[in-house]
Amino acid sequence: MLKEQLALVEQNIQNACEKSGRKNDDVTLIAVSKTKPVEMLQEAYDLGVRIFGENKVQELTQKYDLLPKDIQWHFIGHLQTNKVKYIVDKVALIHSVDSIKLAETIEKEAEKKDCIARILVEVNVAQEDSKFGMKVEEVLPFVEKISKFSHIKVEGLMTIAPFVENPEENRPIFSKLRQLSVDINDKNIDNVNVSILSMGMTNDYEVAIEEGATFVRVGTGIFGHRDYSKNA
Ligand SMILES: *Cc1c(COP(=O)(O)O)cnc(C)c1O
Repeated sequence: MLKEQLALVEQNIQNACEKSGRKNDDVTLIAVSKTKPVEMLQEAYDLGVRIFGENKVQELTQKYDLLPKDIQWHFIGHLQTNKVKYIVDKVALIHSVDSIKLAETIEKEAEKKDCIARILVEVNVAQEDSKFGMKVEEVLPFVEKISKFSHIKVEGLMTIAPFVENPEENRPIFSKLRQLSVDINDKNIDNVNVSILSMGMTNDYEVAIEEGATFVRVGTGIFGHRDYSKNA
């Protein structure tokens, strides 16, 4: 089942790329494996998946220890400052940086571990009260500020679009995130090249690709529905 679902998502990504005149290689699938057991991640790994997304620090570090070391882990959830130290040298990319305090902590912990943390700025484009992320107008000054940090590399932007029945409704949100990335790049800030757009989930990744997504984060579409009742 996982095999067929994964193949379907990959096919849909390819179709969306063709439809929008983009190269398949420019879009990377992140298999969002939160709440799923290690066996299921191993199954995906055996099918060739090497990029997994998790949103809880403890869950990520547990899975990190149990699974092959050539996996790229992406941290996509809200990150508390006191937990940065557990993942800063384990993850390929932190998608959810949305405050100076968090950026300062990442800088400090990355310096201790002698690594460079690659990060995305999370933007609450839809301005939903329930979501984390910065306001659109806060992003440029924020990026200018953290561009001076020597252990952080700002590589792009991330957004979580609202859950909608019709994914077309999210098109303006994805388009706005892409425009913001263009505006930031136009400023030619030292040490900043906003080339990653992490946007699109199971419900709307095809539309996100048409609007320029370079990472899509797909959980349910690959692994099936999440059962939070069984979660320890
Ligand atoms: C859970 C999650 C996803 C995946 O959601 P699906 O709808 O299951 O594809 C993507 N991004 C973030 C930030 C998430 O927390």
